[in-house]
Amino acid sequence: MDIQGLKNALGHLNIEDNPAVLKKKSRDFYWFSPILKRELDQVIGDLIVSPKNEAELIEVISTAFRMEVPITPRGAGTGNYGQAMPLSGGLVLNLLGLNDIDEPQIGSVVAGAGATIAEIDSVARFQSAQELRIFPSTYRTASIGGFVAGGSGGIGSIRWGGLRDLGNITRARIVTVEARPRILTLEGDEVLKIAHAYGTNGVITQVEMPLAPAYTWVEMIVAFDQFDQACGFADDLGNQDGILLKELAAMAAPIAQSFFAHHGKYVCHDQATVFLMCAAQNLAALKSFIVRHKGEISFQSDTLSPGPLHGLPPLFECTWNHTTLFAHHANPNLTYLQILYPYPHHLKTILRLKNLLGSEIIDHLEFVRFDGRIGCMGIPLILFTTEERMEELIKIYEDHGCIVFNPHRYTLEEGGMKRSDPEQLAFKRENDPRGLLNPGKMIAWDKPEFNFSANQKYLFSGIRR
Ligand code: FAD
Repeated sequence: MDIQGLKNALGHLNIEDNPAVLKKKSRDFYWFSPILKRELDQVIGDLIVSPKNEAELIEVISTAFRMEVPITPRGAGTGNYGQAMPLSGGLVLNLLGLNDIDEPQIGSVVAGAGATIAEIDSVARFQSAQELRIFPSTYRTASIGGFVAGGSGGIGSIRWGGLRDLGNITRARIVTVEARPRILTLEGDEVLKIAHAYGTNGVITQVEMPLAPAYTWVEMIVAFDQFDQACGFADDLGNQDGILLKELAAMAAPIAQSFFAHHGKYVCHDQATVFLMCAAQNLAALKSFIVRHKGEISFQSDTLSPGPLHGLPPLFECTWNHTTLFAHHANPNLTYLQILYPYPHHLKTILRLKNLLGSEIIDHLEFVRFDGRIGCMGIPLILFTTEERMEELIKIYEDHGCIVFNPHRYTLEEGGMKRSDPEQLAFKRENDPRGLLNPGKMIAWDKPEFNFSANQKYLFSGIRR
């Protein structure tokens, strides 16, 4: 790789090689995991380039291709498995400058990959009375390109499912990594080639995302004496077809009270909680449902005085991986796992594992629609001791029929379904023939013979320290 040649060739663009900035822009939230923290702490790129438009981007890519420099696409850097970290050094491709947002149409909006999710949602709301169907809890900072390439779901998944479910990304425009980069447009099934591919097989420059009518969402915390009551309530509520929800999460004590600086004061230390967002027009119905389940409303956003939100951050910033963030801040020994519980026995499985693992885990559940059925993902907080114990815990979850998306690994496959995706691999072969995009993240490319069933850990030999 010819870094000096690259700097010389791209000197007329917005480039940066200040070591402090390079270090900052070469990391994401990998430190959620003590294992990734140890493995990736020294990773650093050589140059940041921030193209302002697609033409500049194409120039950057063809130059990097010629000089055989690895390219790591980057949005806001909020991924949490080292996804946006340049393992082999090289070019950090900052895409936040591609941030145009077109006038929303009925049912969809087209935006540059670098536009933040909050900006897109706000344009949709103010210009068309619509809203994004799904967004991550990093709404305020994350880019839409980063969400499509690195995310999986979030607020809205209780209604609309996962990000990779057909229809949740309408269209994506990508640039290939070749001597003469091509522009491709993907729709339908084709979008899945780049969705959650960590930017390993194309650089997304623009996406079209589906919109739904914008509602007034009331935020609520419902408290229960016991965690099993909170789980039962959330599961039943998720299945109430007439009550429109945008978010539904259940948390064991003492998460809410101990870890949330703003919302914790509304909850007692030993109460289990359900955090939810409900459409205002369904509030009376929701309250009746809460009475049936003997829950206690401990926080309701539209009843606060003097202003509607009383200076509080949005409630969804207590959910998904924000829960992990605040728990880790409160106790740096707390880390996490990401679990898919077996449907329809998810509640039984959760409670059985809770009894088995005791205080080593604190349960956090996110309710999600899977193929029309309400099931649940777990993001349990784990009191970290050793990597070996983490592996044992994963095995225990798997032995109970759970699928574990291991957040302590930086590869697509190990963080996902533990098998390679032939479509994403074939797409990489076509569009990144030199393998320059985000090296070390796709095992299928680096080491096709890797045996996923042998329970071994993949160590990318190209990590530059
Ligand atoms: P980055 O972190 O910059 O990049 C993510 C991945 O996408 C990287 O592999 C990068 O190389 C690639 N990439 C970025 N832009 C492009 C592009 N234009 N073309 C090709 N590849 C690209 N995720 C969820 O799904 N749901 C959540 O609710 C959620 N909550 C989170 C809460 C916290 C506190 C944190 C730290 C993370 C959370 N995440 C969540 C993970 C992360 O925030 C999301 O995936 C987010 O959308 C990433 O956006 P980003 O712009 O920060 O992307």
